Amino acid sequence: MLKTLRQEARKILVTSNMIFNFCAGPAALPKPVMLKAQEEFLDWGGTGVSVMEISHRSPEYQQLAERSERNLRNLLKISDDYAVLFLQGGGTQQFSNIPMTLLKKGREAEYLSNGVWSSKASKEAEKYGKVNNIDVLHVNEEKTYSISSASCWNRSDLPAYTHFTPNETIGGLRFEALPVSEAPLIADLSSCILSEQINVSDYDLIYAGAQKNIGPAGLTIVIVKRALYSEMDFSQIPAVSNYQEQDKQGSMLNTPPTYSWYLASLVFEWMQESGGVAGMEQQAIEKSELLYHCIDEDGFYRNPVVERNRSRMNIPFILKDNALNDVFLCEAKKAGLVGLEGHRSVGGMRASLYNSMPVAGVKVLIEFMREFKASHG
Ligand SMILES: *Cc1c(COP(=O)(O)O)cnc(C)c1O
Repeated sequence: MLKTLRQEARKILVTSNMIFNFCAGPAALPKPVMLKAQEEFLDWGGTGVSVMEISHRSPEYQQLAERSERNLRNLLKISDDYAVLFLQGGGTQQFSNIPMTLLKKGREAEYLSNGVWSSKASKEAEKYGKVNNIDVLHVNEEKTYSISSASCWNRSDLPAYTHFTPNETIGGLRFEALPVSEAPLIADLSSCILSEQINVSDYDLIYAGAQKNIGPAGLTIVIVKRALYSEMDFSQIPAVSNYQEQDKQGSMLNTPPTYSWYLASLVFEWMQESGGVAGMEQQAIEKSELLYHCIDEDGFYRNPVVERNRSRMNIPFILKDNALNDVFLCEAKKAGLVGLEGHRSVGGMRASLYNSMPVAGVKVLIEFMREFKASHG
């Protein structure tokens, strides 16, 4: 019985090695991380139990928590002026948390909207106060999308904060530069954190759901400037939403998502061994350039974003003939290329090239796309 199970597992492992998962989220995790988790699934670090079966207050888990925070601080060069929090609730919880704590009566918050997620964040903030939603998405006559020049934006005077989404996951749009703001700058990095080098001190609060570049769903990273606490109102919000209190309690005001946190810690270690954020950035540039080059070749495929705003993480594309979409997706799946469906709101295709996607996976996809074109073009 056990023997057949083991053979089965090995077969799945061999087969899954040939599958490349382009899902936008929850996304593929690095294979070495998954193998390590599998290896210590039943006996974590000699404890005789799984990491998900022990107390988050145990010395063993405390060590994991501290080490993972240290590793993330090293990866992003985060100074002690910032707290690094391991929370729950996803990016969506932060859509509420931020205005709940920072949008005081009589003030206005500024939201730059370049797609679905930033618009959702803006809409949510409207529940709590005045919002200046600035639509920064520009569409020209050829239906090509870009982020409009800052000189066209109708900015707020002294906003409580400026919120933006550096990488829009659905449209595949990326800010080429940080927006200038005198106010605290807040960024939703859910789909691009750790894929490029950033200067954390340029931001006042960064947040990211884990399920794209960090680990499984259930964990949300918040990096917040401690000096911002004095601007925040914690008096009428849920206890778990209190950044300062979470900071004080090491993100353990209540039970944290221990297994997701554990997997994130393995991902951070994997990243450190794989060239750190600089290495991830270099690979992201290489992978995305390869794919855009293939898409741009001759009009059989099309990506609707101007070059300077093209995402390195999420690359939507359509076929000249929409009727072929299902055939494309079906044949791709047979070739071991999964998760290529576009977001349900836009259709078409989307390839997400997060950190865990090896360059080889992109090359296999490109090869498939060329063959598909040759047989259906
Ligand atoms: C996926 C995503 C979200 C939503 O995150 P949840 O964890 O599902 O709440 C928010 N913002 C961006 C940019 C995303 O890519």
